[in-house]
Amino acid sequence: MTVFNLGSINADLFYRVPHLLAPGETLASTKHSRGLGGKGANMSVAIARAAARAVHIGAVGSDGRWAVERLLEYGVDTRSIVELDTVTGHAVIMVDDQGENAILIHPGANRALTETHIASALGAASEEDFFLFQNETSGQVEGATLASARGMRVVYAAAPFDAKAVEAVLPMLDILVVNAVEAQQLTDELGVALADLPVRDVIVTLGGDGCRWINTDEGTEQTFPAIPVTAVDTTGAGDTFTGFLVAALDRGLPMEQAISLGQQAGAIMVTRHGTADVIPDLKDIQDARL
Ligand code: ADP
Repeated sequence: MTVFNLGSINADLFYRVPHLLAPGETLASTKHSRGLGGKGANMSVAIARAAARAVHIGAVGSDGRWAVERLLEYGVDTRSIVELDTVTGHAVIMVDDQGENAILIHPGANRALTETHIASALGAASEEDFFLFQNETSGQVEGATLASARGMRVVYAAAPFDAKAVEAVLPMLDILVVNAVEAQQLTDELGVALADLPVRDVIVTLGGDGCRWINTDEGTEQTFPAIPVTAVDTTGAGDTFTGFLVAALDRGLPMEQAISLGQQAGAIMVTRHGTADVIPDLKDIQDARL
């Protein structure tokens, strides 16, 4: 089957700086590189690397063709990515000599996605398929409503966290994935315990402590310890986890096995520097024997 992923595509622009900028300061960067990023793109790459079919629903500007080509190279179906008359989403990431960072994000084309485009991308979807989305694009409510009406299984990674956005899509969700900070914000700001949410499966990722799975239908909760590794860069761990989890469910695996694959992929990811370009595949997982 297929995972239709409504998600952001960003150019991650890295700048090495002697120190983070102070107001009014002008500073020369000593090193620059450009990578593919954005939560949506990371998840699509993870889904493809986990051997499931990923259709990315997204948008770039004319300066973003390279990003679409790279997604295609990684095995993502890019036919539902539109080129709009605006700038591609990008993140300016400054990293200083101590490893401290400051990040500026401009959503650009990601927030110019329309319901018409999303509806046409979902035209071929069936109830066998998954719909995945995050908070870095426009059209989340419209997408989730359309997907739910088609009987698709709807998965939401509530990041970056926004209580209003969560509230608007809750009735459409089958699976909610949040990290520990987002789980806390959700319970504080919505005033409801995770186990009482109207969502069948709630997964809370806990970084180096693994994850929790709450099945609200059956009233059960299980904790899964993380795979011990030495973390060097935790960027993209959650996106990789979610992509592998959904890909495994899409391939018909039970939740425990999907969580296990997500955790193995997440553990390998934190041992690598970078984002979409370094997401592991199933062979890396086999070879790592975690
Ligand atoms: P996010 O990036 O969204 O904050 P987490 O940091 O919770 O997400 O990480 C997602 C998953 O990646 C975790 O549930 C775990 O399986 C794996 N992971 C993250 N950090 C580590 C770590 N230090 N050691 C082993 N696994 C990790």
